[in-house]
Amino acid sequence: MPELPEVESVRRALAPVLEGRRFAQVRIDDPRLTRPHDRIDVARELEGEVVERVDRRGKYLILRFRSGRALLVHLRMTGSLLHGAVGDDPHRRATIRLDDDSVLAYRDVRRFGTWLLLEPEEVEAYVDARVGREPLDAAYRSKHLAERLAGRRAPIKAAILDQRTVAGVGNIYADEALWRARIHPLVPAADLSPRQVQALHRGIRRALEHGVARQGSTLRDYRLPDGASGTMQHEFKVYGRGGEPCERCGTPIAKTRVAGRGTWYCPTCQAASSSASRPSRSSRHSSV
Ligand SMILES: [Zn+2]
Repeated sequence: MPELPEVESVRRALAPVLEGRRFAQVRIDDPRLTRPHDRIDVARELEGEVVERVDRRGKYLILRFRSGRALLVHLRMTGSLLHGAVGDDPHRRATIRLDDDSVLAYRDVRRFGTWLLLEPEEVEAYVDARVGREPLDAAYRSKHLAERLAGRRAPIKAAILDQRTVAGVGNIYADEALWRARIHPLVPAADLSPRQVQALHRGIRRALEHGVARQGSTLRDYRLPDGASGTMQHEFKVYGRGGEPCERCGTPIAKTRVAGRGTWYCPTCQAASSSASRPSRSSRHSSV
């Protein structure tokens, strides 16, 4: 699933081709994309809108229009936005022709992606209710992360997968950040020491920055708007690398499950017992 680095890479590629352009013609073929709103109504509302800015919050791509309205695009599992040549594609779910006659196509194999058109007064409240602070903002400090982790018994990995804890971290970059911070993914969030929270804050930022620098990771469906793949998948420290040696200590990377998600970590660098506080013996399991 596209996470912050993937969506940010899409944003950077789309901004120069969309900003200032008018949606001349919009066709939405899949009713799932806009539900509960009618796809024909949404397409008609979008026609004539002029893109002022292509923005991102967490995993949401936000097309902000001059009218003040915004289209929130969530790519979910397999969505992608392609700009340029349009060939036959059975997975194309929507097509936007711009006023320069170029075409933006939305493709989604599994059809979990969503398009939501919001009125000006709705946009910020909608996003703020679902998405926490942006981890790559210069103003994002470890105290902000500490505030969101305080008192939470959920495993730290589950806590940072919660989009309200920190925006845009998903399964891949959560594992990468925890390896960088040398924190076991199952340690209860509230048990992290202040130093561990600082290390995690730094780990999250570095893992995401690395992903952005490689234009994201293409495991299956993620593509940049010109059809190219990201290259981060060649540089993962732990994600998907079960049995391979940890680059820090040589221990084979282990796999477990946290919050129902495949989770990779180094049993030596990220030993639960090396945590500054006690390992998890709690029988209470809080959900996120
Ligand atoms: Zn290691």
